[in-house]
Amino acid sequence: MSTPGNRPLDARDRIRRTGIVLLPGHGLHETGAHPENPERLDAVEASLMSGPDRQRLLVLKARAAAEEDIARVHTAAHIDFIRSQSAAGPSWIDSDTVVSPGSYEVTMKASGAALVAVDAVTGSGHCGDVPRPDSMFALVRPPGHHATADRAMGFCLFNHAAVAARYAQQVLGIERVAILDWDVHHGNGTQEIFESDPSVLFVSMHQWPLYPGSGWMDEVGTAAGRGFTVNLPMPPGSGDLEHVDAFDRVVGPVIGDFDPGLLIVSAGQDGHLDDPLSSQALSESGFERLAARVAGLAFRRGIGLVALHEGGYNPETLPGLDHAILAGFGGFSGLVSDRHSEPGAKRDPESPPAEWSERIEQILAVQRPFWPEALSEGRPHAV
Ligand SMILES: [Zn+2]
Repeated sequence: MSTPGNRPLDARDRIRRTGIVLLPGHGLHETGAHPENPERLDAVEASLMSGPDRQRLLVLKARAAAEEDIARVHTAAHIDFIRSQSAAGPSWIDSDTVVSPGSYEVTMKASGAALVAVDAVTGSGHCGDVPRPDSMFALVRPPGHHATADRAMGFCLFNHAAVAARYAQQVLGIERVAILDWDVHHGNGTQEIFESDPSVLFVSMHQWPLYPGSGWMDEVGTAAGRGFTVNLPMPPGSGDLEHVDAFDRVVGPVIGDFDPGLLIVSAGQDGHLDDPLSSQALSESGFERLAARVAGLAFRRGIGLVALHEGGYNPETLPGLDHAILAGFGGFSGLVSDRHSEPGAKRDPESPPAEWSERIEQILAVQRPFWPEALSEGRPHAV
């Protein structure tokens, strides 16, 4: 196969293959009048499956996770609790989190969707006769990143990102896994599960202060895991500029230095400027730029990329946002509409919060002792 100028074909010429994992039956996790409801993913799936880029996407379906997959992360008591609460539902587990009779099955399958995605990008699973994808986006609910080993909270029952990471390590033999959490809320559950474990890097960009209240920059991990938790508390009002700056100056260099064998993204789109649950100002193009950076990082290192749907609570904007992320993953941007200048947007991504320049320097000062080479002063910023 020839290339322009008859240059030999190399990695730069390969299209980044991407796709989605669907979760049929997710509506059986019934939440009533709740921001985390089936309409969110129904709108995304309908849009992607009938959209102009449908043919670019590998489409897989979730399988149920086995109980042993969940038990690599969660206590037996927690698994039993979710099962019994669901069976007796509908009921509220805490002030935010509700379960219905179908919730146990759906959240097991949501974790299973994450495993399907891991299998696909690592070449461990069957994708029919198509080549291994570079990235997969599992469209799942309920979300997972607030769930700890023994507690459901914040709409989350099982922690799908953690289940996927442990599966990659203990079943597929991948030594180090990096988890980037760009949901606007701090992924306290994922952090707690891995905080003393140096084999899983947890990096979180989130609005601070905001629910659940954790995630200040001084939370850096414990015991042998010190330095492998990286928190970037973003000031309210942060938009594209701040998130891309955070990625280029901290997130990307640290993940690269960690040298993972798999990259998992807890992808919540609730930092969007029209989301009802945050004060952040990311636009569609901001998410596309973040996704392209993440995909480029994974692609250059030759490792798989798995994204898991977390938050994002405006069903009108979610389809565009998830399309933007897939466009960034697959490198077929250009079709992404940037809504940030449209009338009705509640925030302006071009008005950065005043404290950002000081905040990023504080974060760098905290993290530099753990990542001296990646974060050395004077190091040229990645673009
Ligand atoms: Zn969230």
